[in-house]
Amino acid sequence: MYVVAGCRAAIAVGSVAVAVMLTCSAPLLAGGIQDDNPKPPPEGAVVLFNGKDLSGWVSKGGEPAKWKVADGYMEVIPGTSDIATEKKFGPDFQLHVEFWLPLMANAKGQARANSGVYIQGRYEIQVLDSYMNSTYPDGACGALYKIIAPSKNASKPPEQWQTYDITFRAPRVDESGKVTQKGEVTVVQNGETIIDHGTFDRVTFGASDEKLGEPGPIRLQDHGCKVRYRNIWLKPLEK
Ligand code: MG
Repeated sequence: MYVVAGCRAAIAVGSVAVAVMLTCSAPLLAGGIQDDNPKPPPEGAVVLFNGKDLSGWVSKGGEPAKWKVADGYMEVIPGTSDIATEKKFGPDFQLHVEFWLPLMANAKGQARANSGVYIQGRYEIQVLDSYMNSTYPDGACGALYKIIAPSKNASKPPEQWQTYDITFRAPRVDESGKVTQKGEVTVVQNGETIIDHGTFDRVTFGASDEKLGEPGPIRLQDHGCKVRYRNIWLKPLEK
């Protein structure tokens, strides 16, 4: 099975004939760009966003989340603050997030479609338009911000849906809070592994707290850019 831009092409080679079956269910967007359909959550996953409203999400300070919701996605309303799940998760889980970045052609570096997925509210996986937009390596899209740089650039151009599949294992700490075993994160962006079992023992800039051994929410960053998210789910892992 070979997957190309949302189309599944199964190629069967016989002795005489080559049969090509092509199923293409994804809609074609303006400009002829193929949009991947959302990947359905697996069994046992906790769906964090229902696509209809922001129930289960709160702003900083605990008041109702104020982002826009339309057509199955949520969108940052700049200046309304980050939003976070009311539920807390940990220590180990798989997280799927889809994001869409606005075209901000006049913005450069960290100013271009910046947001972020804060795992447990403490560890930011950077969201940024890194398509033909250079920045410091550990601040690029998919970085564990200022701790681990992605090994390659897997970013699509803006105004397309992109995916993160993050496998996260929190650091283990002793009773005094000292790290006894580093945390571990694997980040797959658009099907490409860009951080492979990267280790860390501290929170990133902008963390809600430094309680490394405790469960925490999933927090999405309002960095002043109209970034969209959809199809967010989480599946706990065995310890
Ligand atoms: Mg960010």
